[in-house]
Formats: sequence, C-alpha cells, structure tokens
Amino acid sequence: MTTDRTTIRLHDTKTRRKVEFAPIDPENVRLYVCGPTVYDRAHLGNARPVLVFDLLYRLLREVFGREHVTYARNFTDVDDKINARARETGRPIRDITEETVLWYHQDMDALGALRPDHEPRATDYIGQMVAMIERLLLSGHAYVAEGHVLFSVASYETYGALSGRSVEDMIAGARVEVAPYKRDPMDFVLWKPSTEDEPGWDGPVFEGEPVGRGRPGWHIECSAMSYQLFGESFDIHGGGIDLQFPHHENEIAQSACAHPSGDFARIWMHNEMLQVEGKKMSKSLGNFFTVRDLLDQGVAGEVVRLVMLGTHYRKPMDWTAEKRAEAEATLAKWYGLLHAHGFTAKMVRDLKAAGDWAMDAEFLGVLANDLNTPGAIARMHVLSNAKTPAKLVPFAAALELMGLIEDWDALADLAGADAGPEIAPEIDAAVTALLTRRAEARAAKDWAEADRIRDILNAAGVQVTDMGGQASWQPGPGFDPAKLEAAK
Ligand code: AMP
Ligand code: ZN
Repeated sequence: MTTDRTTIRLHDTKTRRKVEFAPIDPENVRLYVCGPTVYDRAHLGNARPVLVFDLLYRLLREVFGREHVTYARNFTDVDDKINARARETGRPIRDITEETVLWYHQDMDALGALRPDHEPRATDYIGQMVAMIERLLLSGHAYVAEGHVLFSVASYETYGALSGRSVEDMIAGARVEVAPYKRDPMDFVLWKPSTEDEPGWDGPVFEGEPVGRGRPGWHIECSAMSYQLFGESFDIHGGGIDLQFPHHENEIAQSACAHPSGDFARIWMHNEMLQVEGKKMSKSLGNFFTVRDLLDQGVAGEVVRLVMLGTHYRKPMDWTAEKRAEAEATLAKWYGLLHAHGFTAKMVRDLKAAGDWAMDAEFLGVLANDLNTPGAIARMHVLSNAKTPAKLVPFAAALELMGLIEDWDALADLAGADAGPEIAPEIDAAVTALLTRRAEARAAKDWAEADRIRDILNAAGVQVTDMGGQASWQPGPGFDPAKLEAAK
C-alpha cells in the first residue's frame, strides 16, 4: 500500500538532530510523557508540556489516524512532597492526590488538552516496579544497602548519552545526594524504606531476602509504567527539559539494563521552560501562578493555548500581558469570522461527512516540521483571509487541529457576539427536510416549487449556505420557525 502521508520531522534530544519520524508500528504509534506530581495546582509552566505534547498527539492522530496513536501520561502519586503536604495539613494522602488529579483534569481540560489514552498512577504499578527492580538486582545493575535498593551507574556504560555529558561533568553540575550507603555518589534510589507513618509496600526480594517495606524512587515509575503499557520499545518520550537529567538519564539506564533487547524510547523530545523574568517558573522559586489563577481572572483557555503555541517549544518563553491581549484579539477576530460565515457544529459535521473538510497542506507541513507552531499560526493568518465559507474550510480545519475550537456552536460566545437562539432538533429537522425538498424540486426542474420553498425559508429567516452541492443553514435576523408551517 502506498501512502501520501505527511512526513513528520522531530528534534531528538539524544542525537541532537532533527529526524524523520518513522514509527515502529504505524498502526500503533506510542507517546509517553512525564506527568505531574500531584500535591498542588498545576502552575502555568506545568501547562507547557501538556499543550506541546497535546499538539503532537493531535498531529500524530491527523497523520496516522485517530485509532493508531496511543498517548500515556502518568500521575506521580507517591512522593516525599506529597507526604510532606499530608503532614502539614493533617489530611490523608489519598485525599490530596485525588483532589489534585481532579484539579489537573479540570484545568487542562479548560486549556483544550485532550485526555491521554492512559493516565497511569504510580501507586497502581508498584508490582511492576518491584519486578523491574528485581531484574536489575539479578543482573548486577543494582544493589541493596541499608533497606534501600540503588542503581549502580558505573554498571551502565553509556550513562549520560542523552545529555551528551560525561559522568564527571554531571556530578560537577548537579546536586547529587551524597549518602553513606551509596557506592558512588551518582547512584540513585530505586527503592527506599518507609517508616510506619509513611506509605509503603512490600519491596523486592533479592537472593531470598526481602528488602523490606518501602516505596519506589521517582525514576523507576516511568520505566515500569511505560514498559507495562508500551513494551520494551516505543516511539516518543517527552517532558520538560528540566527532566533530561537526572530523571530521563535514569529512566534510560533502568530500562536499558532491565530490558537490554529493547530500545526504550526511540525519540526524546523536551520542551523548554516557561520563565518569569528570565528564571524558570517553579514552585521552589515561588515565582509561579497557577493555570486556575489565570482562568479565574477571566483568561480563556484558548487564549492561554494560543500564547503558548506562539513560541516554538524548544525556546524559552515568557507569559506577558501583551501576548495575552494580542491572543485575545486574534481569537475574537477568528471566531467572529467563522461565525459570520455560518460555521456551526452541524455544518462542520456535514462537511466532514461529505468529505469536504480539507486540511491545508502547507499548514500541515509547517506543523509537521518539528511542531513549528509560530509558522503554523502565521499560515493561519493567511488562510483566514479567504472570503467564502468553502474557502475558509482549511482555516477552520487548522483551528481545530491546533485545539483552538472545541465546540463550533460556541463561536458566537467565543467571539463575544450575540449567540442567537438555540435551535431545537425538530426545527432543524423541519428546515433540513425543506432543503431536501428544494433540492429535489430543482433536480426535477420544478422551479415553481423550488422558488416557493425558498420564499418560505426566507420568510422564516433561515439563512442557507450552499457549499459544493451541500446546503447548510443557520437562523438569520427575525428567525421565526412558525412560518415554516406554510410549506405544509
Ligand atoms: P513536575 O510536577 O514539577 O514534575 O512537572 C511536571 C511537568 O512540567 C514536567 O514535564 C516538567 O518538565 C514540566 N515543567 C515544570 N516546570 C516547567 C516550566 N517552568 N516550564 C515548562 N515546563 C515545566
Ligand atoms: Zn518520567
């Protein structure tokens, strides 16, 4: 079978090159992204990888087909920051994590991010983590020390390949935790002991000896969950650039040593940081505001999204009031334009059903070039200059692929215009039946009947848009469905 599929090029952090994306299995393209640690509201920086990889997910679905892409993003629901929050507030851990997951869903939904196909929670995969740690112990890549299990970095020759740095450089540049039980300061925790009041599970068993009750280290989560969901090789692994070292180096070391015949992730993608005054927005620096703060201030999710996508994902970006105002104006113009040309959910459904929903090849090509979102937005400005509904379809399709419109019936609201009356299904059915009768009359060259129906539709204030033989309608000024009765 030959395909004229759009070629996607992606910048791979590991090889530091832009590569042509060739999935392991085009029937099942697999994307894994590191998700949040759930103890607090997501800040705007946390939304950046969500929006970047949501767009990648949408692009992959466009190119390979909706059913052929699987996206997994985890929830880290076991972590010392969560334990600390529970101690400070006196609340049960489970309450905190459940509430934070709920908030995360509400906030990211509001930004138009699709839910991933899998949202694995670390605590549901402890068994898989323990099994992986046992494999690492058996193969000599890990050792037990004082109730901990540590990964031996010296046992994995190519450690550091993702960052392209030597182990010595990494030690010099990082805050590695020095602990008396480590053979080497670079060794990292796979499993650590829990006190009675900390969450804990039965740990790995090595040479017949149980390591004891404890909890997993952070890095092993993603290795174990991606293995369980995707197997030992999958296509793309993503996350913020702050995770490149140590988190992603450690994921690679664990997965490569536990499953030496697999590739783990073929392509690594990292988004740059969202900054405030030139510094990474982060909880620890206290220079953050949450996505909810913005939404509560009346900033629309689509505005946040357009601002984010206005900067290429591999460049640092600032959130500014000026960018917000600019995005608001652009979106109001775009939504108003499509509303004025009669775009509604029904019309979009009809166009899709008729095969008339066409994507602009140049727009798609720009986006497929390592997610060049600023270029894609520039192309959208050009496409938005079209003057008829039919010619605006590529613009509308681009808007949808960018995740900037969820509900086509909300265009008027989004543009800040008068939303007009709600159309009851029986009225839509009556108008559609008249449009069909008119089409039949025309086909039979019964012009008198065709004109009579046209006049009735006009009198009732029905605005008809003919597009490539497909008629679509919306209520115009003075819309009065009672006048449709005249056709009976
Ligand atoms: P965390 O909950 O801190 O582990 O972060 C969850 C995700 O947000 C990870 O992919 C991080 O890389 C990403 N992230 C955190 N801070 C920022 C930021 N300021 N800009 C962009 N991405 C960030
Ligand atoms: Zn991860």
